[in-house]
Amino acid sequence: MYDGLDDHLLLWEKHGWAPPYRMHICLTDHCNLECLACWRFAPEHRNNLSYPRNETSDIRLLKLIDEAVGLGVKEIELTGGGEPFVRRNLARELMKRIKEAGLRGTITTNGTLLSYDDIRLMVDLGWDEVIISLDGPTAEINDKLRPPKGSFNKSLETITSFKKYKLESGKDNYYQRSFQGQRFFRGRNDLSRD
Ligand code: SF4
Repeated sequence: MYDGLDDHLLLWEKHGWAPPYRMHICLTDHCNLECLACWRFAPEHRNNLSYPRNETSDIRLLKLIDEAVGLGVKEIELTGGGEPFVRRNLARELMKRIKEAGLRGTITTNGTLLSYDDIRLMVDLGWDEVIISLDGPTAEINDKLRPPKGSFNKSLETITSFKKYKLESGKDNYYQRSFQGQRFFRGRNDLSRD
């Protein structure tokens, strides 16, 4: 799962230094959900979110991938901040560039903004890991913690669409997770797979 990690550790052991193995890129502070536990609603952040002003430009973030390759980075995680797919075109372009560069790619998303075309792109690219955040095994529980109402069903639709397209295309190249707290999801094996 972690290609190249052994090499990084050996470099570290030999030279006392190794390039970063993983880079996290936060695409945005903005999000379409209003989760109760989200850092964005803490008093010190609520009025200080960067979206849309001061967000790093598309061009700069895309160039960062080239710089990461030059440094020897092996894996890039696209995450928040907020919801990566708020900047949908950027998310797609970053994923393309990451996979074209031969890096491992992982993304954390609330799963509510992906179109079927996004899902096709990710499976076709050979995207490696998708983490879809849920806070409960049913709409009733999840949507109370992750409003607005309907977010659970949208995330579920995304998970189902990934499974559908992987079956259709015969490509089964990534690892999908769909929960934050595993113990809450007993009996919902349909929401995850290894
Ligand atoms: S999906 Fe993530 S970023 Fe969006 S409100 Fe919920 S916790 Fe915050």
